[in-house]
Amino acid sequence: MPQISSVLSSLNDTSDDGWGVYYKSLKMEDQGAKLTHLTIGEHDIKTRDSVLDAMMVSAKGGHTGYAVGPGTDELRTAIAKRCYDKTGKVTALEDVMVTIGGQGALFTAHKACLSPGETALYIEPYYPTYRGTLRATGANAVPVSTRSSNAFMPDPDQLRQIVKDTNARSLLINSPNNPTGAVYPLEMLQKISQICIDHDLWLISDEVYDSMVWDASHLSPSTLPGMAERTIVIGSFSKSHAMTGSRLGWLIGPPPVMEAANALNMVTTFGAPGYIQDAALFALSEGAHKEEEIAAPFKRRRDLCMGILEKQNVVKAIPSGGSMYLFLDIRATGLSGTDFAYKLLDNHHIAVMPGESFGASGAGHLRLALTVEESLLENALQKICDQATVLADANN
Ligand code: PLP
Repeated sequence: MPQISSVLSSLNDTSDDGWGVYYKSLKMEDQGAKLTHLTIGEHDIKTRDSVLDAMMVSAKGGHTGYAVGPGTDELRTAIAKRCYDKTGKVTALEDVMVTIGGQGALFTAHKACLSPGETALYIEPYYPTYRGTLRATGANAVPVSTRSSNAFMPDPDQLRQIVKDTNARSLLINSPNNPTGAVYPLEMLQKISQICIDHDLWLISDEVYDSMVWDASHLSPSTLPGMAERTIVIGSFSKSHAMTGSRLGWLIGPPPVMEAANALNMVTTFGAPGYIQDAALFALSEGAHKEEEIAAPFKRRRDLCMGILEKQNVVKAIPSGGSMYLFLDIRATGLSGTDFAYKLLDNHHIAVMPGESFGASGAGHLRLALTVEESLLENALQKICDQATVLADANN
């Protein structure tokens, strides 16, 4: 038989891709177990009816043909306006391309910036698709580790050294962060930007959680001096508008990137479905307060969890400034995140993601997706703390 592409067979080259607990939890549910799911970043609410109605009106109105190109002018204009409203960066419709999800934007951005074999850096812990997405573009994907004790902020000196050692061409950052909830302050973004300028790097800034920033306003490195020409912003309707299944995202970048991205688009997706673009346009037209409504439960739940965690000292929470997640440090138990998560699933029917799923820097941690209503979440976190306390006592 002919061989499969070496690029694609390298995407999942580990025996456990970090999803083992999740797959086991699905199997248990199939067999009738009742579980509390704190695994994937899927809202507990659905896409709202008004948006679905707009989708239906558009489809029935005939917007079901090929929607070739970088997106409808109306939607690109509305995304550009949202970008301006959120960050103050003047953005034109030509700077925006609509993609198949934020995932499509991540792939397109890296494909546009890197030639095969060039090095693409990404910060660890990372959203689990990053490594495979970067590899799928043909890039040499290299993680940059961070430490729990430093709230998972990159260390600028270490980052600069890795850039030099690997002769990197791009850096992917994600703030607010999945899985840690870290939100990079201005000083951190300035330091990262300076490294990008000094070493002529592309900065790919994944901002899909930009509507979920709790204690400050969202900051985009694309607004910093000298960065507009080298930053590609990744956005998505998935999290801000509870439209995960509609698979609609965007990228915002300088003209050469848009040209390359358009060329790729013409030979891959051909563009996102027109009626879904119209639904997203309608969703934006309903205003920023609708995004705030969708985000609000996640802040409420973060605060609830912090209140529970304050009452004990075994499980530590990494300071979470945004996103849908809380990242817990369970190293006092002596168990890996994976072992702890399997125990939690078996003993208490609570499913969480082991920190190891997000790279080696996440070892000994758990990611909780705050995607269940408060009483269930409270109960689950209490059980996590109880299990951790028993294990930590036995460990001492
Ligand atoms: N980037 C991050 C950090 C994410 O967490 C996700 C999804 O969870 C994505 C990108 C992809 O989002 P989309 O559903 O728009 O493809």
